[in-house]
Amino acid sequence: MSTNLNIASINTWINTDKKPFIISGPCSAESYDQLYVTSKELKSIGIEIIRAGVWKPRTRPGTFEGNGEKALKWIKKIKNELDVKFAVEVANPNHVKLCLHYGIDILWIGARTTVNPFSIQEIAESLQGSDIPILVKNPINPDLSLWIGALERLNKVGLKKIGAIHRGFSTPDKTKYRYAPMWKIAIDLKSSFPNLPIVCDPSHICGNREMIYDISQKALDLGYEGLIIESHIDPENAWSDAKQQVTPISLKEIISNLKIKKKIEKNQNHKILLEDLRESIDSVDKDLIGVLEKRFNLVKKIAEFKENQDLTVFQVKRWNEIFESRKKWSTKKNLDTSFIEELYKLIHIASIKSQTEILNKK
Ligand code: PEP
Ligand code: MN
Repeated sequence: MSTNLNIASINTWINTDKKPFIISGPCSAESYDQLYVTSKELKSIGIEIIRAGVWKPRTRPGTFEGNGEKALKWIKKIKNELDVKFAVEVANPNHVKLCLHYGIDILWIGARTTVNPFSIQEIAESLQGSDIPILVKNPINPDLSLWIGALERLNKVGLKKIGAIHRGFSTPDKTKYRYAPMWKIAIDLKSSFPNLPIVCDPSHICGNREMIYDISQKALDLGYEGLIIESHIDPENAWSDAKQQVTPISLKEIISNLKIKKKIEKNQNHKILLEDLRESIDSVDKDLIGVLEKRFNLVKKIAEFKENQDLTVFQVKRWNEIFESRKKWSTKKNLDTSFIEELYKLIHIASIKSQTEILNKK
C-alpha cells in the first residue's frame, strides 16, 4: 500500500543550521539537579534540544519508572532558566496532555509504543489540533509497515512536523549491538518518504558508549538529518541505561570528530545492505559454532559411556548410519549432499579423535 505523508519542512521546527542537529540528554530525568547540570553542560557545548525520559517503559517491573509530572515541573523551570528546548517520550493521551500543559517542545513515541496501533491512534487523537513536532521511534520488531502506520496515524490528525527515530530492532540472535540496526529498514523508510527527517539513536542501537561514534558516523554517511544521544553528568550511576550514556564532555568529542560528507555516495545503500547481510551471516555462524560445541560436548559424554561399557570408539554401523541419514536430511533442505558428506567426514574424524584422546587419558 503506498501513501504519501504531508510533512512540514524540517527547518520550520528545528534549527538545521547546525548539521547534524543533535538532541541529547539523560535517559531519565532523575532529579532536578541531575537534569539541570546535564542540561547546562549540554547547552555550553551547543546542544539546543535536551531529551529527558519522564515515564520510562521498563521491561520488568520493580525498577525506576520515571518521575512523571514532577519531572515536567523541573523541565519547565530549566527551560526558563537556560533557554533550551525539551523533548519527552509520550506513551498515552495522559502523557500528551501533561506535556502540552508544561510546554514541552518536541514529543517522541517510544519503540514499545509504536508496535501498538491502538496506542498510536489514541495518542494521535489526543494531539488533534496541536502542531507540536513529534518523532516516532521504530517499533521494537523489524516491521517497516508498523513504523509507517504510526507516522500515517499522526499525519492523519493533522500533525505535519513529524520525523522518525531509528533506534534498532530486537532480534532473537545475539549481535554485538543491544538492538540490531538493520539499516535497510530505515533506508527503505527514507526512500518511501524522502522528505521525512530521520534521526539515528546510536545509544539504544549500541547499548554501550564505545560504539556510539561509529554508528553516528554511519548514520551521517547515509544522510540522516539528526542524532539523539543519551548523556548524563554521571553515566556510571545513571538509574537507567547506565552503560550507554556519555558525559557532555565525551559528547562534545564525539560530535567534533564526526565528518559531514557533502554528497552521499551513490553506492552507500548497497554497502549497507551488504553490511546487514554480513551481520546476519556472523550471527548464523555464531549459532553454527554453538551447535558444534553442543555436538562435541555430547561426543565427550559418549566417550565416557564407551569407556564404562568397554566399547570401541569407531563403530562401522554408526558411521554408515550417520552418512545416510545426514544426506537424506540435507536433500530435504536443498543442500548439496556431497558437501554434507564431506562436512560429516570432517566432523566424524574430529569426533573420533576427541573420543580417542579422552580414552587415552584414562
Ligand atoms: C529511551 O529513549 O530512553 C527509550 C526508552 O527508548 P526506546 O523506546 O527506543 O526503547
Ligand atoms: Mn534509554
